[in-house]
Amino acid sequence: MSGLDVRGVSVVYPGKPPVTAVDDASLTVDKGEIVALLGPSGCGKSSLLGAIVGIVETTAGTVAFDGEDVTSTPVHERGFGLVFQDGQLFPHLTVGGNIAYGIHSLPRAQRDARVAELLELVGLEGLAHRKVTELSGGQRQRVALARSLAPSPRLLCLDEPLSSLDAELRQRVADDLREVLTASGITALMVTHDPAEAERVASRVLRMDAGRLV
Ligand code: ADP
Ligand code: MG
Repeated sequence: MSGLDVRGVSVVYPGKPPVTAVDDASLTVDKGEIVALLGPSGCGKSSLLGAIVGIVETTAGTVAFDGEDVTSTPVHERGFGLVFQDGQLFPHLTVGGNIAYGIHSLPRAQRDARVAELLELVGLEGLAHRKVTELSGGQRQRVALARSLAPSPRLLCLDEPLSSLDAELRQRVADDLREVLTASGITALMVTHDPAEAERVASRVLRMDAGRLV
């Protein structure tokens, strides 16, 4: 099986009583496919995405990519990227510095070329030296997207990437996001609570409710 293969994943947070955030979830994302995981707040979307990326511990099930079981593989060795809701850029770095963050092992010239290529991809040509504190919300999310694409992850996970933007901007950036993801040919799984956004960005929408895929 090529692409992402999630089977029977559960996430239970310890406590009194324990919280079952994800209950026996199975899904696949084919190579180059853009899938949205849609559901109301608190239904377990972030927990499931976290389990796939490796920042949340699973209590059952397996996560595999291209047939390789990565359930016990540390986050940084999975080759998966993650974009958060608020982008979480480094405020002390420039746009270029943020994008280059994950590709520091590349020689300078190659790194600069990759940054330029990504700036063009997300429509921010020429802004490499701008401070990220001097960008609009939409521009910041584009930088976050470029930063997560820089190391060429085999899977990109996005957790409500547009929800910090106002409604008008969100629609435009959703179209841009789809274009960028499609152009980069990446395999992507995006979490959202907004049905319109899911339809706009993804080619397939999976619904989640109360910890289960429905
Ligand atoms: P969503 O992303 O769909 O809003 P979450 O995955 O964040 O949902 O949360 C699912 C459920 O798990 C919620 O009931 C939430 O309160 C609970 N939860 C999330 N994170 C934790 C945590 N670290 N510890 C305990 N419970 C958590
Ligand atoms: Mg969430």
